[in-house]
Amino acid sequence: MARHSIPDYGPSTRAVHAGLAQGEQGDPLLGGPVLAGTYHLRGPADASEYAYGRDANPTWTGLERALGELEGGESLVFSSGMAAVTATLMTLIRPGDVLVAVSDGYPGVRLVASERLQPFGVRVRFVRTDTQAVIDAVRGARLVWLETPCNPRLDVVDIAAVAEAAHATGALVAVDNTLATPLGQRTLALGADLAVMSGTKTLCGHSDVLLGAVSARDPSLIAAIRRWRSQSGSAPGGFEAWLAHRSLATLALRLERSSAGAEAVARALREREDVLGVFHPSDHAAARAQMTHYGCLIGFTVASAARAQALLDACTLVAEATSFGGVQATAERRARWGTDDVPNGFIRYSAGCEDPEDLVADLTAALDATR
Ligand code: PLP
Repeated sequence: MARHSIPDYGPSTRAVHAGLAQGEQGDPLLGGPVLAGTYHLRGPADASEYAYGRDANPTWTGLERALGELEGGESLVFSSGMAAVTATLMTLIRPGDVLVAVSDGYPGVRLVASERLQPFGVRVRFVRTDTQAVIDAVRGARLVWLETPCNPRLDVVDIAAVAEAAHATGALVAVDNTLATPLGQRTLALGADLAVMSGTKTLCGHSDVLLGAVSARDPSLIAAIRRWRSQSGSAPGGFEAWLAHRSLATLALRLERSSAGAEAVARALREREDVLGVFHPSDHAAARAQMTHYGCLIGFTVASAARAQALLDACTLVAEATSFGGVQATAERRARWGTDDVPNGFIRYSAGCEDPEDLVADLTAALDATR
């Protein structure tokens, strides 16, 4: 079988075949994980691509080839989403630079900006996830950091419009694409310079791996971030990378099913008077234009923290847990962390791969029981 270079195929085909090399007679279809701290290296230091386990690993190489094909660029994998985030920020931002970052995205990014970068003289401008608000802030920036859809409120920015404005002033644009994954939103094709992901969520999808990835079209950006990975030691283990590659084969199926589940739950919640607000990316024109799948998340608000907790307790199919994007539905009262600007009764709900009608029935019954 020849290796495919895939843009013409559909998302399931692209996910199933991503990164698979042409096999020799008797080879496994997906080779096993390489678990190596060090490799045979005779003679000169550059005699082999694989010399030391913090710098290179064949299992990462396969996964990176797969992600690069899906992203439309080159990819690097990391030990977690935050390792990918900090690799990008620490490589691109210098003291005195301006970083524009969304104020309503994943709190870990905001904390790195305020607790690590600002004390070193980086000027951070926090803005809402709103296209015009971001464009108004880009002048003089070195990097614009978007998370779209942002979570937990699932607001959306027009990536192409922000990229055009940022590039006009010489800024780079990074997009955290954790929720949609490259199959739901092609951030690099929309004009972003860097796509960053927590693979811990939908990409790997089974709630058993911590992983991160950074992708870019410009090889010099990738080379610089690769150097950071070696210097900081933020590489993934071979087994985690292998699990991620194995999980990638079902990404399109999982994304499709969990997106359908989230849409069904959002529709059902909008029918109810005891649900005070429902948040879903499809509320935004930019999402409808640039996304092919909206991802697994819905936000919704009930009257109080007590009702929200009772509701979580009453659901039988939904595990109360943080994170999202697993095969199993999960939810949490997001204000319990104290990190997001959401009401006390706000629930972040992640549809899994259950049948959408079962998720709707389960949540409806729990709402009825706790009214
Ligand atoms: N980006 C987003 C949007 C996230 O939700 C998270 C984690 O929740 C991260 C980045 C960080 O990823 P990780 O937990 O894999 O370090």
